[in-house]
Amino acid sequence: MKHDIKSLTFDELKNEASRLGLPAYRAKQIFEWLHKFGVKSFDEMTNISKGLRSALSEKFYISSCEIEQKLVSKLDGTVKYLFKLSDGEYIETVVMKYKYGYSICVSSQVGCKMGCTFCASTLAGYKRDLTAGEIESQLHSAQSDLGIRISNIVLMGIGEPLDNFQNVLSFILNVNDENGLNISMRNISLSTCGIVPEIKELMKYELPITLTVSLHAPNDAVRSAIMPVNKRWGIDEILAVCREYSEKTGRRVSFEYTLIKGVNDGERHAKELAKRLKGMLCHVNLIPVNDVKERNNLGTDKENIYKFSEILNNNGINATIRRTLGSDINASCGQLRRKRNGVEQ
Ligand code: SAH
Repeated sequence: MKHDIKSLTFDELKNEASRLGLPAYRAKQIFEWLHKFGVKSFDEMTNISKGLRSALSEKFYISSCEIEQKLVSKLDGTVKYLFKLSDGEYIETVVMKYKYGYSICVSSQVGCKMGCTFCASTLAGYKRDLTAGEIESQLHSAQSDLGIRISNIVLMGIGEPLDNFQNVLSFILNVNDENGLNISMRNISLSTCGIVPEIKELMKYELPITLTVSLHAPNDAVRSAIMPVNKRWGIDEILAVCREYSEKTGRRVSFEYTLIKGVNDGERHAKELAKRLKGMLCHVNLIPVNDVKERNNLGTDKENIYKFSEILNNNGINATIRRTLGSDINASCGQLRRKRNGVEQ
């Protein structure tokens, strides 16, 4: 079976090169073609001999993703892609323009196993993990289609990044590599539903990325009802590991809190959350829920989101309300893939 050469880190590629008896600068050239220039075939590597290109193509393939569908928001220019992978599976990617540059939201798996009740990504089921190269290919395809340079990455698309740990780690190392896209770790945010052992594993690498945890509730009763993963690792365990994470990395942890009317958006929820987060180096992102028809259009009460934010801020917890981008193109993930898989919307 051939391996995805784009998934190798620079160190791994150097080892491969030395096994093939190649000098180190060859590995650098190949890495640049793959990561900086995002080539899709070995034949595009024009400073590499034909013989070597064919030797590489016998052992490896280059992962990529093709645009199957592209939606552009008329409201804010947000672009959403449905990408087709080499085995015919689909993933979704969103590119947003901010004052500081372009940010991309990438998928890490085809589907998701986590089963959060409000999320569309779970509905079409889990198929497989993405390779590191496939995660990065989303940047290459979007950059070349839009003619832009992406400066920020959020791992918040379809999938649970910490359920695909090794591939996600290689992806982060590769996009950060100065011979590749050279994106600062500080501009990378990894969002997890709270797989505690994997957060501990990630901590060992001491990467200065932002850890984002999808909290969505101030206590276990509310959280377990909407996020099955909470039955395995509860809020106490999550907050303990987040405290450790911010102490070790010196980076503040970011919490996602999607407000669902009548479920987790009351004053008492805000007060309880403020109490639990007290003294922690963190930030809370309050998010209006994106309606998913199959989930009976849960809805966010606008007034409650402002009240919620005020209570947190008055209690010393830094909280902001996330601006909704691409609302006219269903920019939240999971919905296009589901449609394409032939399920009625
Ligand atoms: N599995 C990871 C990353 C993917 S989900 C995680 O759980 O963090 C990215 C974010 O979108 C998470 O915070 C998730 O809880 C949130 N999300 C999922 N469905 C949503 C919806 N319908 N409305 C608003 N946010 C949603």
